[in-house]
Amino acid sequence: MSNAQLRFWGVRGSYAAPFSSHLGVGGNTSCVEIRAGDHLLICDAGTGIIPLGNELMQQDKIREMFVILTHYHWDHVCGLPFFVPAFSPDWKISFFGPGDSPTSIEENVSSQMQAPYFPVGTETWLAEINYLVQQSGGFQYGPIKIDFSNVHHPGITFGYRIQVNDKTIVYASDNECMFIEKSVKHRSDEFNEEELALFEEMIHEEHQSELNLFKDADILIHDAQYTPDDYEKKRGWGHSCYVDTINTAINANVKELYLFHHDPNYDDAAMEAIQKHSNEIIKEKGSSLVCHIAKEGMTIDL
Ligand SMILES: [Zn+2]
Ligand SMILES: [Zn+2]
Repeated sequence: MSNAQLRFWGVRGSYAAPFSSHLGVGGNTSCVEIRAGDHLLICDAGTGIIPLGNELMQQDKIREMFVILTHYHWDHVCGLPFFVPAFSPDWKISFFGPGDSPTSIEENVSSQMQAPYFPVGTETWLAEINYLVQQSGGFQYGPIKIDFSNVHHPGITFGYRIQVNDKTIVYASDNECMFIEKSVKHRSDEFNEEELALFEEMIHEEHQSELNLFKDADILIHDAQYTPDDYEKKRGWGHSCYVDTINTAINANVKELYLFHHDPNYDDAAMEAIQKHSNEIIKEKGSSLVCHIAKEGMTIDL
């Protein structure tokens, strides 16, 4: 085992799904831990961060962490009001996410705990809290290098490209991949030639920015919320159909793909069917991509 591991604490999108039919995959919302030695990076703070916080309170080696947020939709921040290290005086927590300044990031993190939504505010947090400013070159946190860029999701949302040891991990929990391409194809008979030419350019830019974020990743953790049928009903909601996620990963030469941000309506049997179909797609394409369903508790050696 190397000195670095990744662990899934929450793999659901939208809302927690603690139903007995779902527990093989897990019911908590987005939270992924990357630990390199004593450096702890946490991607998103959905309900999965609650059991992570409880586990961290059982050890005394680590007292510091860096929390990167893709955006502030409920399913990505709703674990913070119950994250015990934040309420404990000897901890140091740095937050980063979309926002023009540390103050706007702080507002985005803390507003869910204001009255009448929650009994106590972030002023009751006893840990040393820092909100970090955007840096064009990304962040270096101990041995972990973190870059970010915008992805396609309502509001400003980041995807993260993370380097640990020699591994590149991309975390893009919420992203509707190939959005422009699919939308234009869907309505192509409505546009004239000039408009279609303009859209071609936009599609090219979309491909390029997806490629920049995902290219040659060892591990891609990506939104795969919908089946093709459900995607048709939720086009424009900012989430991907798993077929598009797989195709995007293959095009970007990704080695291992973890389908993530599962729809809370899909039980373990539905997720198994997605795994089976995913393997068929990859085989048909003759690709060497390895595709997994991200499951709560899954740990990867980095
Ligand atoms: Zn989400
Ligand atoms: Zn979202």
